[in-house]
Amino acid sequence: MKETNCIFCRIAERQAPAKIVYEDDTVVAFEDLHPQAPVHLLVIPRRHLPSLQAVTAEDEPLLGRLFTVAARLAREHQLESKGYRTVINNGSWAGQSVFHLHVHLLGGRVFRWPPG
Ligand code: AMP
Repeated sequence: MKETNCIFCRIAERQAPAKIVYEDDTVVAFEDLHPQAPVHLLVIPRRHLPSLQAVTAEDEPLLGRLFTVAARLAREHQLESKGYRTVINNGSWAGQSVFHLHVHLLGGRVFRWPPG
């Protein structure tokens, strides 16, 4: 299912610009428009899911795919040795601003804990 007014659906369909770094049948990854780290990529399912709250047991392979692609991209960007962060913001209190499920892959600097 595609949402025509969803910017990430549009990016996945190549109807909106983005620097795509990976894509396959189910997943697309691209550079974040406002990077918060030297490497800041977003890994999204092609299928429109508003957030993690929308997933069901049927989506378990898809969720696995999001993270194996994130790990692969981390390796390709030489983030493995120093470490990196993966984040999914869900809902307004978590700071979610685009309501199409996405994994942030951030690396290339030190991250603090707890996050802000
Ligand atoms: P979140 O706040 O977790 O929903 O993350 C949404 C992310 O999408 C933010 O880091 C934005 O900078 C990023 N973003 C929004 N629009 C675009 C776009 N058109 N292309 C790439 N990244 C975007």
